[in-house]
Amino acid sequence: MITYEREREELADKLSEKGITDIYVLKAIREVERHIFVPKAMKHHAYADVALPLGYGQTISQPYTVALMTQSLGLKSSGRVLEIGTGSGYQGAILEKMGMDVFSIERNMDIYLMTRKLLDSLGLRIHTKCGDGTIGWDEFAPYDGIIVTAGSPSVPESLKKQLKTGAKLVIPVGNKNSQILKIITKLSDTEFDTHDVPEFSFVPLIGREGWNRK
Ligand code: SAH
Repeated sequence: MITYEREREELADKLSEKGITDIYVLKAIREVERHIFVPKAMKHHAYADVALPLGYGQTISQPYTVALMTQSLGLKSSGRVLEIGTGSGYQGAILEKMGMDVFSIERNMDIYLMTRKLLDSLGLRIHTKCGDGTIGWDEFAPYDGIIVTAGSPSVPESLKKQLKTGAKLVIPVGNKNSQILKIITKLSDTEFDTHDVPEFSFVPLIGREGWNRK
């Protein structure tokens, strides 16, 4: 069986060269088997630093983007994190491997079921639900960090509300083709500090506080 261990090492080295400095993130990149999360036909591209199709018109984000978003949460190795857009489960697995308590929402039922099965087979402790993540997951709020892995027209108010004071929301905001990654720190219930990182291209976030369904 191919374990791709060397490929993971090389990927972590490449991400480090590209500016990822968080040792907890790099360790998780070395440990999580991305080839298990990508479609069979894509396995030998699993450790290239590129986004890959995961089926249903959706994509598994580029490793650099996953690493940057995770690093941007500034959490090191513990905390309760909400992810919007479970997709393949890879981003969730990175967070879980780092020691986070992960809650993840996926709106597409087929993707939700496929990934839930995979997470169970891997024994990963990630809480998932199928629904509209633009309104967050109130039941388990507030969160130490929120990561949105689809591009949004604006920042959903519900997600700002469900963030702890001092915590960060990482979300791509823009049009359907290109977005700026916004790293938003909640200073108080009404004050937020925003840092922008250009320029990304995520699949659209569809929902009540996202893009309307076509
Ligand atoms: N984090 C994923 C990336 C998946 S791509 C990974 O690591 O593979 C983005 C995902 O967001 C898609 O699966 C899409 O169906 C989902 N999505 C889009 N709008 C959503 C919404 N409002 N709530 C939850 N998921 C949503």
